[in-house]
Amino acid sequence: MNIQWANGVSGMDNPAVNDVLKIIQRNDIISFAGGLPSARSFPIKELAAAFHSTLLEEGAAALQYGVANGYEPLRSWVAERLQKQGIDCKPGNIIITNGSQQVLDLACRLLVNPGDAIAVENPTYLAAIQVFKGAQANILPVPVDAYGMNIDELAKVLQREKPKFIYVNPTFQNPTGVTMTVERRQQLAQLAAKYQVPVVEDNPYGELRYDGTPVPPIKSFPGGEWVLYAGTISKIVAPGLRIGWMAAGEEFIAKMASAKQISDVLTNSLTQRALYRYLCNHDIDNHIGTIVAQYKEQRDSMLEAMKAFFPAEVTWTIPDGGMFIWATLPENIDTTKLLPEAIKEKVAFVPGAPFYSDDTGQSHNTMRLNFSNSTPDMIYEGMERLGRLLKAHVR
Ligand code: PMP
Repeated sequence: MNIQWANGVSGMDNPAVNDVLKIIQRNDIISFAGGLPSARSFPIKELAAAFHSTLLEEGAAALQYGVANGYEPLRSWVAERLQKQGIDCKPGNIIITNGSQQVLDLACRLLVNPGDAIAVENPTYLAAIQVFKGAQANILPVPVDAYGMNIDELAKVLQREKPKFIYVNPTFQNPTGVTMTVERRQQLAQLAAKYQVPVVEDNPYGELRYDGTPVPPIKSFPGGEWVLYAGTISKIVAPGLRIGWMAAGEEFIAKMASAKQISDVLTNSLTQRALYRYLCNHDIDNHIGTIVAQYKEQRDSMLEAMKAFFPAEVTWTIPDGGMFIWATLPENIDTTKLLPEAIKEKVAFVPGAPFYSDDTGQSHNTMRLNFSNSTPDMIYEGMERLGRLLKAHVR
């Protein structure tokens, strides 16, 4: 069939990543490639009880249409939680979305015309790149170092161009695991206000902290009214629920609700209510504590195994939280070419290239390693296999 696709469609696909995701579903492979939370942490019985009682006790409302902004008690729960993290907000500043992924898509619908610019960390979350390319945006890469997005470089970009927004994943970033410093957060909020450019602060991993002290969200600093804050239940309860949220000024929330209305009318009413019940009946912080203890052990196992099995020429980030470690290999190793060899050895990772939005070629020798979905034993075994392969390639 000769289908005439719309202009943005070619940017939505990432065949390399689709291939990796297919391969890692083979259960003979130890995969550090996905970004899946551990299924061991899902509160299955508790959610079953919450769904059951929601249907029995408020079935008619739970099965009915509702407002696009989301279930009010859940919005209040989110607002209260964000207030504790220093974000000044009320339920009217919250919209419930189908995961935080939908925030990125709807933000593009509201702000981006084809050819408009969006500034991003380089590297960044690859599904964000896909959304932005789908919106036919011109992506402006800003380098990331051990302290997060380089704000001096961002300032240079803002002097030259006016992006429609700045996208950042400042805490335990996907893919690098790095966290933006307090000073840079402050500077970023100031720059947003000075240049009147919104920031989309995407924070799915912030509550998964294993070391150090929490860093306040960018939205909590002066200038924070320019920040659209995206959060999610995916990494602290379960991603299959598809519940996320955005916190923003009321004007933006109203436009977002219109965009959501035309996109999917509203987020699943039954799930919103059942999740709210679950949150009321259980101590979520205690549950997060269990996840944190598990992932910390897995992160430590991965770091230990890297030290033991990787050649000395390889360097890597040491994330204080989240789900990812980012490794940089010697220049002569191209991780995209290395992957098929790794799969033969029954271990997988994601090559770094798709996380970069430019083609400068700096990305070929990096890889993302996920530790949330493998036990310590699997991590040691997989890292030993990968280490052996790397040693064979180091010159
Ligand atoms: N942003 C980032 C940085 C992510 O890593 C993810 C999930 N992998 C998402 C957004 C989307 O999460 P969800 O839609 O499940 O909330």
